[in-house]
Amino acid sequence: MTMFCYQCEQTAKGTGCTAHGVCGKDPETAALQDGLIHAVKGLSMYAHRARQLGATDREINVFTVQALFATLTNVNFDPEALRQMVLRAAELRDRARALYEEACQKTGKQPEELGGPAAFTPAGDMDELIRQGEVLTIQNRIDALGEDVTGLRELLLHGLKGAAADADHAQILAQEDHALYAGFHEMVDYLAGKPEDVTGLQELLLYGLKGAAAYADHAQILGQEDDAFYAGFHEMLDYLAGKPTCADELLARALRVGELNLKAMELLDAANTGAYGHPEPTPVRVTPLKGKAIVVSGHDLKDLDELLKQSAGKGINVYTHGEMLPAHGYPELRKYEHLVGNYGGAWQDQRKEFDEFPGAILMTTNCLQRPKDSYAGRIFTSGLVGWPGVAHIENRDFTPVIEAALAAEGFMEDGPDKEILVGFGHNAVMGVADKVIEAVKGGAVRHFFLIGGCDGAKPGRNYYTEFAQAVPDDCVILTLACGKYRFNKLDFGDIGGIPRLLDVGQCNDAYSAVQIALALADAFDTDVNSLPLSLILSWYEQKAVAILLTLLHLGIRDIRLGPSLPAFVTAPVLEVLAEKFNVMPISTPQEDLAAILG
Ligand code: SF4
Repeated sequence: MTMFCYQCEQTAKGTGCTAHGVCGKDPETAALQDGLIHAVKGLSMYAHRARQLGATDREINVFTVQALFATLTNVNFDPEALRQMVLRAAELRDRARALYEEACQKTGKQPEELGGPAAFTPAGDMDELIRQGEVLTIQNRIDALGEDVTGLRELLLHGLKGAAADADHAQILAQEDHALYAGFHEMVDYLAGKPEDVTGLQELLLYGLKGAAAYADHAQILGQEDDAFYAGFHEMLDYLAGKPTCADELLARALRVGELNLKAMELLDAANTGAYGHPEPTPVRVTPLKGKAIVVSGHDLKDLDELLKQSAGKGINVYTHGEMLPAHGYPELRKYEHLVGNYGGAWQDQRKEFDEFPGAILMTTNCLQRPKDSYAGRIFTSGLVGWPGVAHIENRDFTPVIEAALAAEGFMEDGPDKEILVGFGHNAVMGVADKVIEAVKGGAVRHFFLIGGCDGAKPGRNYYTEFAQAVPDDCVILTLACGKYRFNKLDFGDIGGIPRLLDVGQCNDAYSAVQIALALADAFDTDVNSLPLSLILSWYEQKAVAILLTLLHLGIRDIRLGPSLPAFVTAPVLEVLAEKFNVMPISTPQEDLAAILG
């Protein structure tokens, strides 16, 4: 059995995982995820049409987002959980169809007969369902699209030939129009588009939606929703279900996904700060304390909050891991005395770190790797995360996690004292805006570098450490997401009391970074692209894709992206991005710094 997946940066050979996912995803799970995406497209075709007639259903909306999130890299590897989601998607598709037909009846409209994903009937049997998913792989779509695009090209080409004959006759009689020639060139240029480019653009859009879905799900968990947002998801999935082939429109829609993601991050920012207060600069211990222990990884602050409530007074120390580190900055989370510090580094080191961790482990969202046998009995998943055989927490009852922590040895002694600072969200940074602006105007701060994005296992990521270390002393570094673990325990000092390393937060706090940039642009009476600010981004999975699309939607230029470029962004598409936004790959820290600072 084969598969094809190229949605993340660690994809095999930089082109695609075809035998087994580097992340641990097997071909069966890949087929089920492809089947789930297909089923959700079908559901969206009806949900989109129903909404246009004024009918919507919250359960369908929330499920759409959850299904996309479940297929993100390192989230759900559990075939049975995915099978259940495909079946649920078909049930909700039927509900969406009924909703649509009812709305048609009320408005006197003739319902459309929908085919393709809307007519998908998933098999109840696991083997058959996997076979259905296999047909939907990206490679099969590229092959099929090859035929479609060839047919469309021929149609277009034959039309052009006819028009050319007429134009030639006119030219012979001295009648020419340069707009006509421009039209010919544009069309011939368009014909050069390949199925790989088109499929890559479709996937760019889909991965952006997946990333935005992750943020929307977190916001929804904390009670922040917006129907306009769900409308955007259904519209885009309906559009993708129609197998679009126009490269220009696909790119334009991808930027609209960036806009959708900005809204998702805004909602999540409101949800997080509404529930837990605005992050404040906070020192965080990064070494263990003697005693029983639980480590919480992922991004779900509500899971952390509930676990802290349930474990209070039980003699257990709770540590954050990976992307949960910024949780320490939120007043309503850091109030728990047994939230004692941060353990380990970024997600890709978890198998070694969890092996050595003498307590219970909770994975709340993506970034799960195949658990080792040594800790398989004391790791738990929650929310949409899943691994076959790993105990899954239902309804935020963390009793099994607490019991596993109490049964484990715990840390036998304190580690050496060491702290780092977190909590420089937009509110905290803008609280000292006067100081920052004065430092820039007075020349004390020459430039800001946002070194943001995910960490990963592939070679080439030392670039980010070396870049941070090479940043001159009169420049400030802003960090986001888990890429910072490569250098966030180094001492960067301060500039007149402003720390040179300011951690803005999780990946979704790119929203905070955007707010900071917009406020600075306002203060300097300029635009973001004219600020002394450069974006040096690292990507790993689909949330980073969503954030990149958001930045492009905002018109932000000159982004440097690494450590390698996405396999689904083909050379012609990259050329367009380079031309429109000056997006460029990273080179070496020295070359890039010289190019930026002159
Ligand atoms: Fe490969 Fe990444 Fe897809 Fe996993 S998510 S199968 S590593 S491309």
